[in-house]
Amino acid sequence: MEHKLFIYNTLTRRKELFKPLQEPNVGMYVCGPTVYGDPHLGHARPSITFDVLFRYLKHLGYKVRYVRNITDVGHLEHDADAGEDKIAKKARLEQLEPMEVAQFYTNRYHDAMRALNVLPPSIEPHATGHIIEQEQLVQEILDNGYAYESNGSVYFDVEKYNKDHKYGKLSGRNLEDVINNSRTLDGVDEKRNQVDFALWKKAQPEHIMRWPSRWSQGFPGWHCECTAMGRKYLGNHFDIHGGGMDLVFPHHECEIAQAVASQGDEMVHYWMHNNMITINGQKMGKSLGNFITLEQFFTGNHKLLDQAYTPMTVRFFILQAHYRGTVDFSNAALQAAEKAYERMMDGWHRLAELKAADASSIKLDDYAARCADAMNDDLNTAQVIATLFDACKVINQVNDGNATLSQEDIDTLKATFQTYLFDVLGVRDDAAGTSEGVNLEPYKKAVDLLLEMRRNAKAAKDWATSDLIRDRLNEAGFDVKDTKDGFEWKVR
Ligand code: ZN
Repeated sequence: MEHKLFIYNTLTRRKELFKPLQEPNVGMYVCGPTVYGDPHLGHARPSITFDVLFRYLKHLGYKVRYVRNITDVGHLEHDADAGEDKIAKKARLEQLEPMEVAQFYTNRYHDAMRALNVLPPSIEPHATGHIIEQEQLVQEILDNGYAYESNGSVYFDVEKYNKDHKYGKLSGRNLEDVINNSRTLDGVDEKRNQVDFALWKKAQPEHIMRWPSRWSQGFPGWHCECTAMGRKYLGNHFDIHGGGMDLVFPHHECEIAQAVASQGDEMVHYWMHNNMITINGQKMGKSLGNFITLEQFFTGNHKLLDQAYTPMTVRFFILQAHYRGTVDFSNAALQAAEKAYERMMDGWHRLAELKAADASSIKLDDYAARCADAMNDDLNTAQVIATLFDACKVINQVNDGNATLSQEDIDTLKATFQTYLFDVLGVRDDAAGTSEGVNLEPYKKAVDLLLEMRRNAKAAKDWATSDLIRDRLNEAGFDVKDTKDGFEWKVR
């Protein structure tokens, strides 16, 4: 296979030509959600970013195994090593089984992903389903001398590791910085050094999520799951590991340390991270009152939102920025994205209706090649969208009667939209796709028929019938617009 895709590797800090370890197979692991609350905007960006990567790799002809995990244990209140388990806490407060909480929010996450047109991964492993694999990982690290047991818990020996391998490669931190920035928290007296992190934690008596192990009744440290499950499903060495930039430190830094300490070398070839989302210039947080769930975006039910925004507006908004750039959500920006999405869809609908001429009066740009170049340049989705808008200008020109296109050129444009807008960017045509699995063609023909009857009524100066058809279609949710050669309509 010809290699053309360049991706930015967080580890080497440069764009690198993507070459899979075992062509045509690609192994890709992305840190999924911790399922103790409703999915929010912070979940949308990594899921959409890596969905586009997944789609594009498949478009290039790779056979992709995409693993995105569900964190359902070990994510503690204060940091990786201290406090109550977040899922167990929710279960206690709501008098539910922890697995009920995890299942409930996993379902909510799946619903949101479906709405955003994010494809399901190939494998979605749960941390609680892989306790044995995590225990094996901990034992290997112990056997290799990079961990120690203390009072039933097992900690990673960061200082020892740093001497042999250098800790902090991914985040660019050195050990002294990390030591200076660590807070003193629970369990510090069990640790040799405050920078050490838990691989296995002995459960306190009140801790309900616990498993037997050779060290204690307890639970794995948060960082273990991704190393253990990535290795189980993708092998000792795999291509891509992704997630949000907030995971670079400590989560992914600790994953690298665990991999090297257990198997002697690094597991991951390319590390990829999407940038974060702010809301009106501020970091999102429950205490700031700007924490907006995806459902609230979709219903408009939040005091910061002027209106509801469809999932496709949210997806389009995210794709209009490069994944490594910051994105700030505001009503104005979302409304602009909503308009942009509508303009793009109008272009697509007009393209579907264009009448071919014997010859094109203009030379069509190679939009597909421009889209491919943009995607190959570290997934520049913003550039793909800009290119498709250029194509929309041509479509409008032809639609307005100011240019002509041959059938071949029309078909080329259709194929470009189908490939890049729908297959690769994963944008969905909401006007066409609200009734999944239902053939909408007969309904479209019926609306066209009504509008033709209205045109005939107008020609016969039967204004009453003409207005009746327009008003009733309007009430039913159709926007009707008269044009030079007839009419255009869409569902509001
Ligand atoms: Zn992870």
